[in-house]
Amino acid sequence: MKEYKTVYKLSMENPHRHYLKVEVSFNKLPADKEFIDVKIPVWTPGSYMVREYAQHVHEFTANDFSDQNLNFEKINKNTWRIFKGLEESVQVSYLVYSFDLTVRTNFLNSSYAFVTPSATFVYLEEFKNEKALLKVELPEGWEKVSTGLKRIEGRTNTFQIENYDILVDSPLLCGNYQTFDFEVDGKNHEIAVQGIFKNDKNTFVSDIKKIVETEFELFGELPYKDYTFICIFSPGKYGGLEHLNSMAVVFDPFELVDEKRYKDWLALIAHEFFHLWNVKRIRPIELGPFDYDQEIYTKLLWVAEGITSYYDDFLVLKTGFYTTEEYLEVVSKNIKRLQTNYGRNICTLEESSFDAWIKFYRQNENSSNTICSYYNKGALLIMCLDLAIRNYSKNEKSFDDVLLRFNKFYKEEKRGFTKEEFKEMVKEVVGSDFPEILVNYLETTEEIDYEKYLGYAGVEFVKDEALPRNLGLDFSEKEGTLTVNRIYQGTPSWDSDINVNDEIIAIDGIRVNKTLLEKFLTKSESGQKFKFLIARDLEIREVELEATSLREENYKLVKKEDVSELAEQIFQKWIG
Ligand SMILES: [Zn+2]
Repeated sequence: MKEYKTVYKLSMENPHRHYLKVEVSFNKLPADKEFIDVKIPVWTPGSYMVREYAQHVHEFTANDFSDQNLNFEKINKNTWRIFKGLEESVQVSYLVYSFDLTVRTNFLNSSYAFVTPSATFVYLEEFKNEKALLKVELPEGWEKVSTGLKRIEGRTNTFQIENYDILVDSPLLCGNYQTFDFEVDGKNHEIAVQGIFKNDKNTFVSDIKKIVETEFELFGELPYKDYTFICIFSPGKYGGLEHLNSMAVVFDPFELVDEKRYKDWLALIAHEFFHLWNVKRIRPIELGPFDYDQEIYTKLLWVAEGITSYYDDFLVLKTGFYTTEEYLEVVSKNIKRLQTNYGRNICTLEESSFDAWIKFYRQNENSSNTICSYYNKGALLIMCLDLAIRNYSKNEKSFDDVLLRFNKFYKEEKRGFTKEEFKEMVKEVVGSDFPEILVNYLETTEEIDYEKYLGYAGVEFVKDEALPRNLGLDFSEKEGTLTVNRIYQGTPSWDSDINVNDEIIAIDGIRVNKTLLEKFLTKSESGQKFKFLIARDLEIREVELEATSLREENYKLVKKEDVSELAEQIFQKWIG
């Protein structure tokens, strides 16, 4: 064991108490250095928020190799300074409270553990690029560990770690759960399924396999030795996180049996799998290697998530799970999402990327008025770029070719690209005269010209303005109480004195319930005036509100019959 400079032991005695136990030995430390600084990350790559993982670390101790206590002190929120004297080996031990089930935190109960390495394992800056070892000790009766880490043959649940970045990029699932295997390109893929699971297993596995095959075909390679899908099914949960040769996804098992939601699930799988290339390899220069101590800033998160979000639905179509009509409906919903989001008028895509840490990842009741999603707008922009490339190249090229160029760049340079390099590569693939379509859409809030780009594929963009817009508020109902959750800018509610958290009691003297309130909100005529009776901080008050002529814009995408030959060809090759 001593050949490794860092050796981790992870155990989980009494899992019902939700504490992971971590013991680490740091070996071959320089004898002349009086102290070492042991750190735990404050965030995890792929999820751009400082999560302060150190808050869950308890009962930290440090010993030398003859088990004598060593003095230590915390020098900041996530660093322990251990005074080791002449010692060449130091052992630390601590507990990590683990009871937050998401793809970027830890969870442990008497059935299973999901381990997010950056939230769990401490490191020494000076050993970050060195090989390490991880041994997992399971509670009695638990049998399985699933992870992308390299298993050491002949040793129980022991893994070799190339460097700390790879450890951080390899979450673990431990317990007794179902696993399924399949092969693509001679490589093994394991699907680990924790939780209630009512779907047909064969279909489930073969559908995931089909997505892997579609992406394999697109890139012409699978850049790993083996791949692990960690799937946790838990009611009300949704989320996914990409990793080097694995993904972690949480999803609601009861939604998984719904035909429509099942396609969303497949899009989630396609999304996280696509990140294998776009983000894990092809990436903006700032996205790795990382500083785990603080935020890393990039204006190009929209590249990471926009391209991936465009391709997730697109690949579900290409794999044959969406019909052309269903796909156009998905796109029209995405357009509606952006166009009804007031934040698009005040926040550019680059600002949204840069401030993800404090805005997109820390949303509040006013967020739709102030930010635009770099997933949503980024995906629509890449769709427009894809269509512009298809049109410019007379249907010879597409964004797929740009992706392959990006991948070549990664392989040659082994680093991320700058915004200039991104633009240069697009021009190199498409042609030096290819017009710059991105700049205003990235740096300003100029509205995307959907008509133009969709027109290249003969798709008509129909704004159906028949629906009256609601009065501009969202509410929820709990035990008969109707509470305002959001007020949308540019609507009658925004102009009135109704606040988030107000309780709506009556309108025009009529006691309202959920159904009645919905009716008022959506069926009001322009100029109609209302008196809302509300309760705010226990005080009853009346608030006036006047419906305006605002219309809910509905976006329908329809393939036109009579289009140019080129547009027809583009349509067929794109989504036909
Ligand atoms: Zn993503």
